[in-house]
Amino acid sequence: MSPRTVDVLLPLGLDAAYSYLLPEGMEVAPGDLVHVPLGTKSVIGVVWPRAQAVGGKAVEASKLKAVKAKLDYVPLPPDLIGLIDWMADYTLAPRGMVLRMALRHGESPGAARERVGVRLTGTAPARMTAARARLLDTLADGFVRGKTEAAREAGVSPSVVDGLVDDGTLEAVVLPPEPAAYPPDPDHAVPELSQPQAEAAAAMVAAVKAKTFAVHLLDGVTGSGKTETYFEAVAEAIRAGRQALILLPEIALTQAFLDRFTERFGVKPAEWHSGVSTRRRAKVLNEVASGQVKVVAGARSALFLPFRDLGLIIVDEEHDPAYKQEDGVCYHARDMAVVRARLASAPIVLASATPSIETEVNARRGRYRRLALPVRFGGAKVPGLSPIDLRKEGPPRGRWIAPRLEAEINTTLEAGEQALLFLNRRGYAPLTLCRSCGHRMRCPSCTAWLVEHRFRRRLTCHHCGYQAPVPEKCPACGAPDSLVPVGPGVERLQEEVQTLFPNARALVLSSDLLGGVERMRAELDAVAKGDVDVVVGTQLVAKGHNFPGLALVGVVDADVGLGHGDPRAAERTFQLVHQVAGRAGRGKAEGRGFIQTHMPEHPVMRALVTGDRDAFYDVEIAAREEAHLPPFGRMAALIVSASEAHVAEGHARRLAASAPILPDVRILGPAEAPLALLRGRHRWRLLVRSPRNFDLPAYLREWRAVAPKIRGNIKVAIDVDPQSF
Ligand code: ADP
Ligand code: ZN
Repeated sequence: MSPRTVDVLLPLGLDAAYSYLLPEGMEVAPGDLVHVPLGTKSVIGVVWPRAQAVGGKAVEASKLKAVKAKLDYVPLPPDLIGLIDWMADYTLAPRGMVLRMALRHGESPGAARERVGVRLTGTAPARMTAARARLLDTLADGFVRGKTEAAREAGVSPSVVDGLVDDGTLEAVVLPPEPAAYPPDPDHAVPELSQPQAEAAAAMVAAVKAKTFAVHLLDGVTGSGKTETYFEAVAEAIRAGRQALILLPEIALTQAFLDRFTERFGVKPAEWHSGVSTRRRAKVLNEVASGQVKVVAGARSALFLPFRDLGLIIVDEEHDPAYKQEDGVCYHARDMAVVRARLASAPIVLASATPSIETEVNARRGRYRRLALPVRFGGAKVPGLSPIDLRKEGPPRGRWIAPRLEAEINTTLEAGEQALLFLNRRGYAPLTLCRSCGHRMRCPSCTAWLVEHRFRRRLTCHHCGYQAPVPEKCPACGAPDSLVPVGPGVERLQEEVQTLFPNARALVLSSDLLGGVERMRAELDAVAKGDVDVVVGTQLVAKGHNFPGLALVGVVDADVGLGHGDPRAAERTFQLVHQVAGRAGRGKAEGRGFIQTHMPEHPVMRALVTGDRDAFYDVEIAAREEAHLPPFGRMAALIVSASEAHVAEGHARRLAASAPILPDVRILGPAEAPLALLRGRHRWRLLVRSPRNFDLPAYLREWRAVAPKIRGNIKVAIDVDPQSF
């Protein structure tokens, strides 16, 4: 009989699975985790389906090494294996690296570890010590305790417990699993839906029942009640005994979301993001695999959980740029969620008030089904936005709040309502320069200015994290006390608010304040409760928060994101400002919004003021189509980086010259990348563009096979569907 072999994919920078012999008596299935030898080491790998294990060299069976052990870890379900294969093929990242990312949460492996307890046997110990006596005293009541609990209760080290087990005085027993948290109750508090909500919910519920892949765009204005509506689909998945995954762009901050989930379903969903402890994650992972956890709310990494029976995926705020991962394996979590839904034969719902152009085009073409919620729940009006032309009615020099906005804030405060000032610039000032020689403080390793953070008294690079104290003398000309902040950041804006309104309680909300997620949650809570009068915030405040007392939104500089020559800039600005404005007027107070801009005639500002979203999308979509940009063409970016500029440039040029010539493919560049220097590495970029129905990943793979060899510290990163182009 010929020896049995299996293919094992290792979580390393390898694309192919390796073959191993399967020892007699060992049975494995695709998705199982195994220990295998690699060189002199032993590594964890995953048994991979045969058909996908391409590219490995055929090795004589006699030379193969054997699988060492099958691990008692949660196996990868078939749809997750399919997702990993699909992502590797699409992004050109080595299959093993995609696997590594999918297993990363398993660093402390998600083993189904049994809880071990101890109890007395009646046998006397060989010898007695004070610690042993304390432990025996503690256990004298006859109750079984977990090993660690027993040690903690007796105030002894766990080794004392082990010693008494060895002596036969205690015996180890397997404890029943911790009682599961109550599952979410689909009928806990069913809201009465408005007519449009009910129609949209019915369509999603039907899709969950049908157990087939379908994409829905839940397209509802801010405050229309999208969450309540998609909760009905989640409820249906729970009723059907299946699982639901809800992706959120910044879950660590969405306490409000968890509260609403709890109100609707009686318990919190399982959370999955970087703020969750490793221990807790191991537990969630196990319970997702066993099917005990019914609903996971998580960040993009939750896509790689081993769901037992995934029945629904929701991607909330689907337009949010946070869904794109830009380092390591470059992927867009929204798009990969669609892939996973397809592989799991489950419906998926993309929710947004300002869909991405890609999603909007798919909806217009009928590939995604649009479910519209055109009005706010309860009849509140979406606030109108008025422009404030900074060229004509701007504030005096050194101030950023125009007189008209100041007057509006005043009215708001007098009425006992809240105001939000939005400025997408963290820190005190975006630039620090020398008054005598004009020297600008730059990051030594990035093409970026250093941003002053006053509460930390430091200059910081927002790209690499470099920090330095504000120098007393100009580093260029040596003039003392000559460095001055230029332009506003949120901290400086708060100063202005305090000067103008000394009695107002003003609060800065920005991602880099001290205190982390807990403090952030507390502060958002304070705003929601009305303990703050003026919120000064970065894009952090744009996301999904519900501040019932908020009446006024002032966008301090609507032009910030425009004018970088990036075709996505207009779309991003529209989404961001529209979302921020949507925070106002959700409670009793009627909402008002003002945007300060130097270009009120810009199509984005006009769209924001008229509120005619569809007209804006018409223009944007036409421009993309005209230029063959995504989603009307495919795009990939190749970033060549090296520690010396001429090395990066030289390689980028040779790489461009090596591209296979095809009439369908256009290579743009090379040119310096948007961040030409990042973390001390010089970056050059090539953009590759093809028609929509062209297999761009296949082309890139062919190209890679003939590309010049990489030498020294050169790196080439491939980003299929880049965010900027
Ligand atoms: P969106 O996500 O579309 O911006 P939300 O889901 O935040 O809107 O809903 C806005 C507000 O309306 C929330 O306070 C929400 O609790 C409330 N709401 C929405 N739908 C209902 C409903 N059917 N019954 C009661 N309250 C609702
Ligand atoms: Zn830097």
